Formats: sequence, C-alpha cells, structure tokens
Amino acid sequence: MSALIERIRAAVGPAGLITRADESAAYATDWRKRYFGKPLAVVRPASTAEVAQVVRACAETRTPIVPQGGNTGLCGGATPDASGTQLVLNLSRMNRVRAIDVRNHTITVEAGCVLANLQRAALDAGRLFPLSLAAEGSCQIGGNLSTNAGGTAVLRYGNTRELVLGLEVVLPSGEIWDGLRGLRKDNTGYDLKQLFIGAEGTLGVITAAVLKLYPLPRSRAVAIAALRDPESALALLEKFQDACGERLTGLELFSDFCLTLVLGHFKETAAPFPSRFPYYALIELSDTRAGEGTKSLLEAVLEAALGEGIIPDAAIAQSESQAQAFWKLRELISEAQAHEGANIKHDVSIPVSRIPDFIRETHAGLARAHPGIRMVTFGHLGDGNLHYNVSPPDGVAADVFGGHLGAINRIVHDSVARFGGSISAEHGLGQLKREEILRYKSPVEIELMRSIKRTLDPHGIMNPGKLL
Ligand code: FAD
Ligand code: ZN
Repeated sequence: MSALIERIRAAVGPAGLITRADESAAYATDWRKRYFGKPLAVVRPASTAEVAQVVRACAETRTPIVPQGGNTGLCGGATPDASGTQLVLNLSRMNRVRAIDVRNHTITVEAGCVLANLQRAALDAGRLFPLSLAAEGSCQIGGNLSTNAGGTAVLRYGNTRELVLGLEVVLPSGEIWDGLRGLRKDNTGYDLKQLFIGAEGTLGVITAAVLKLYPLPRSRAVAIAALRDPESALALLEKFQDACGERLTGLELFSDFCLTLVLGHFKETAAPFPSRFPYYALIELSDTRAGEGTKSLLEAVLEAALGEGIIPDAAIAQSESQAQAFWKLRELISEAQAHEGANIKHDVSIPVSRIPDFIRETHAGLARAHPGIRMVTFGHLGDGNLHYNVSPPDGVAADVFGGHLGAINRIVHDSVARFGGSISAEHGLGQLKREEILRYKSPVEIELMRSIKRTLDPHGIMNPGKLL
C-alpha cells in the first residue's frame, strides 16, 4: 500500500496528500455527523492530469476512491467507510474559472469551484448562474453536478442537470473524457454527460464543466401569502404560473408549525401577519426589466387571489431587507428544527397536482401510528418537492423516537410510492437510502443501473457502497 501512496505523492506533490489521521478526520465525517470513516489517505490534486494519474494508480491496485467536493451532502455520499482502504479524492484545489463566453452565455469551471464563487464570477461578467442553495458558501460545483442539486430557483431555471452543456470526466480507468462542449444543440449520439450528473461519484470523477449563464435579473419582488390549506397553495401556484410565466422564480410552502419553530429559535425573526394561518407560501418574481413592474405584477396577482378567496391575507416585501427577512423564515426552518431536537427527514417529490392529497393521507397514517407526532412540512412546492420532516410528539425522548425511524420511513415512503413520487427529490441516495431505494425501483431499472456501473467501472472502485 505504501508503494501506492508514494506513487500518488509523486503525482500530486506533498501539498496534495494528507496521510495523518488527525488531519484527515474532517474529510472522513459527513456534514450531519452521521457517518464517520477512516480513509487510507486524502488526496487533493491540483489539475485534471493529476486526477488522472491518481485514478490510474488506484485502478491498477483496485483501490476504492471516494470523490469529495464541499462535503455538504446530506446522505453520506462523500464519506469513506471505516476500513482504512478507501482514498478520499477531494477536488477543492481545482477551483479555477477556466473561461467565460459572455455572448455564448457559458462559463467553464473546474469541479472544486465553490458555488458562491461561481455565482460571483458570473455576476462580475454581467450574467446570472442561477443555482442557489443554503450550502452555496461551501458546496462545490462538482458536488452539485454529482448530486444534481436542486435548491430555490428550480421552478424557473431547473435542476443542476438543466444547467449543464458539457463535462470533463476522469473515467475509472484513469482516461480523460473531454466533453467540454458549449453547445445548446448537439445530436451526435448518446448524451453521455447525463450519466455522470446525479451519479454521486459512482461512475467517474467530474473535473470540469461548461455551464449555462442567464441574463441578470434587474428587479425582484417577494411576498408571503397566508393559506388555509395546501389545496389553496396549488390554486395560488397555478394563478402565478398563468399570470407571470417564467417571471415566477420560486414558490415555497411552509406550515405554521415551521414558522413557530423559526420564531422560537431565532429571536431576530418576526411573523409576517398579526394573526396565524395553517400554511404560508413564499413567492418570488424576478425580471430582466428594472423598475416597479415586477412588484406591480405581484400585487395584481395577490389582489386577484384575495378577491377570489384563494388566500385570506398577503404581505409584500417593501424593501430588499424585508425580502431577505421573508426568505429567512423559509431558509431557517432546517436549522430551527435541528435546535428543537431529534427529527426524521424526508426529501420527497410528488406530482404537484397530488401534493394536497399526499399531505393529508400521509399525515393521517403517521398520526394513527404515532399520536401527537409533529409534522414539519415545508419545501419547494413549485417543484413538487417537500422536505416532509417529522418531530417526536411532545414528551417523547429522542432515542425512543429514533427507534421508530424504519417504521416512519416505511409509512412516508410507501405513501410517496402510492402517489407516484420519488423518495429522493434533490439530495441523492448516498449511503442513507441505498437499501431503501431497492423497495421502490423495479428490478429492471436497478439492473439497468448496475449494468451501466459494470460497463464504466468494471472493478467497482468508484465510490463503492454508495447509491447502488
Ligand atoms: P459532497 O457532499 O462533497 O459530495 C456529494 C456527492 O457527490 C458524493 O457522493 C461525492 O462522492 C460526489 N462528488 C462530489 N464531487 C464530485 C466530483 N467532482 N466528481 C464526482 N463525484 C463527486 N441540496 C439540494 O439539492 N438543494 C438544497 O436546497 C440543499 N440545501 C442544503 C442546505 C444545507 C445547509 C446543506 C448542508 C446541504 C444542502 N443541500 C441541498 C445538500 C448539498 O449541499 C448538495 O447535495 C450539494 O450539491 C453537495 O455538494 P458538495 O460539493 O458539498 O458535495
Ligand atoms: Zn430543498
């Protein structure tokens, strides 16, 4: 094994290799501190050629590789196992913007580029890179691509997958595939880049990408609407889609219990209305036109919704700081729930039209099994993606509640399946849902995925134990 380490050291230099356990520990633990691994070493290559040399050495010695970006994934996908035989391949040093083609609306970046830095590089060129999520200060584009990350602007711009034109990948053999094409039309056979997007590092190491840029929005308007039930959220969504088209950038849903948690744990936050309602929708419109037009449009649609009785109340942000304060109410829910104590998370998607029935039926099922269970229902309603989390009934201890994890997952995920949904909408499978997915995908689909894996990675060295 030391021969391999020396070969890798020769390839990446001393700055690119960490072998001491105390220094590698941070790379061996996931963000939620649920998985603790023990890596053979942590390698931090500085170029695609170095990645290729490392992967080739690993292929020859059958050494497992765990690709790692910002390590903010929520499913243990970037964490090595405890065997001490897996190499963590961290992309952080590959963080250059290689090129921006303003007129082609494209940016070419290396995989280790932190998402916030990528957004800033686009902004400096007068363009928008629209992918946006709460982890953007730490997560890297390579990780975003490998998990096909979603976030808060999917309604308007799509998932990460929709933002990609080309990829550069180091294959499990150590060969480099240069697919860095900046083309919006290219019908020359299989669209291979799609295989690596959302593959969670199981098919190769993404080293660079050509991404789509968009014109900069020059105005935005944000509001919170009060809701009596999820049905009216759907009616409101439809109204905004009809009236605003692609100006509708986001439509997020959260329940009153989510608001209670945020207000309780973050003293700087304030309720949007003098009275409380069962649910709320946070709506954002944006436009490339500057001026008050976007806000006027928001007002007009909300007024119509009030007039038709779809919503009982609405509050429109009167300043940028108020818009940010509204968004905080939505963004702080996960953290507030963490402060509250143990909870069980679900990241599910359902056809948007069926979300109200899903919420009603699943809650009824959970309440029957666990009277008093507290639903922390929120998410990206416009995308049909709910973070359908549950907290224990008052007075039930965390470890007791944790003992019901499997049974609660079964109720929620079986309900998701009945409604034609997915048990992982945006976070991926990683280690967390690798077994669970076997219940919900057909044997034909699982075998198809396995055969692709075997073809690209015949020795099974790329991120073993994840996804499949
Ligand atoms: P990592 O965690 O390092 O890796 C994730 C997976 O990708 C692993 O399987 C890893 O092996 C693989 N991988 C990483 N880099 C490469 C590469 N270069 N080549 C091949 N494989 C690679 N996710 C959302 O979708 N939407 C959200 O709104 C969202 N909000 C979040 C908020 C918070 C506070 C946190 C902590 C996480 C959130 N996430 C969200 C989850 C997470 O941020 C995303 O999954 C993100 O895309 C992971 O990027 P990363 O660089 O941290 O990847
Ligand atoms: Zn989310």
